[in-house]
Amino acid sequence: MNPGKIICIGWNYRPHVAELKAALPKEPMVFLKPSSCMIGDGDDIIIPEGITNVQHEVELALIFGKTGKDIQECDAMSYVSEVAVFNDVTARDMQANDRKAGNSWDLSKGMDTFGPISKPVSAKGLDLFNLHLELAVNDEIRQSGYTSHMIFTLPKLISYVSRYMTVEKGDVMATGTPDGISEICRGDIVTATIDGIGSVTNRVV
Ligand code: MG
Repeated sequence: MNPGKIICIGWNYRPHVAELKAALPKEPMVFLKPSSCMIGDGDDIIIPEGITNVQHEVELALIFGKTGKDIQECDAMSYVSEVAVFNDVTARDMQANDRKAGNSWDLSKGMDTFGPISKPVSAKGLDLFNLHLELAVNDEIRQSGYTSHMIFTLPKLISYVSRYMTVEKGDVMATGTPDGISEICRGDIVTATIDGIGSVTNRVV
């Protein structure tokens, strides 16, 4: 996969907003990750020297099958051709410092290997609005949530983003993570799973 962009939604599950001590968003919180951060199942998550408190975030990823601008909510899901499991790996200490300083999240979220994604599957026939997401570290479950608990629904996210930014065929949208984020360390085996879609497993080095 080599999407033009990975559109990410932050703070889209209430308990996750609380654990990050952020304010509930009034509109979707949007940022981008570079496609160069993507890795597949079985690849290593590489923590660069000097980077502390790297954390996992299991997310439902939408993959767009056509290009659109000013997409209406009622038509939004017709733009989604495939879905996948995404792990929005984050250098949390760096991100926290950047948040304090008013700087961007580009580096803390966009490092090489910080975007594990499962093999995409067709979105046809899946109820994307009530999927169970789970993340395990060394077989211990750390995150468990449902896409029904999103603050902003999938059609709202697609419509909102496309008002300002053309969504292109092949683009990926990571739709936010439930609560339970925690640190991953070198040697850990991290598995992000969504029932009915699949999983992506990566070793941390
Ligand atoms: Mg995230």
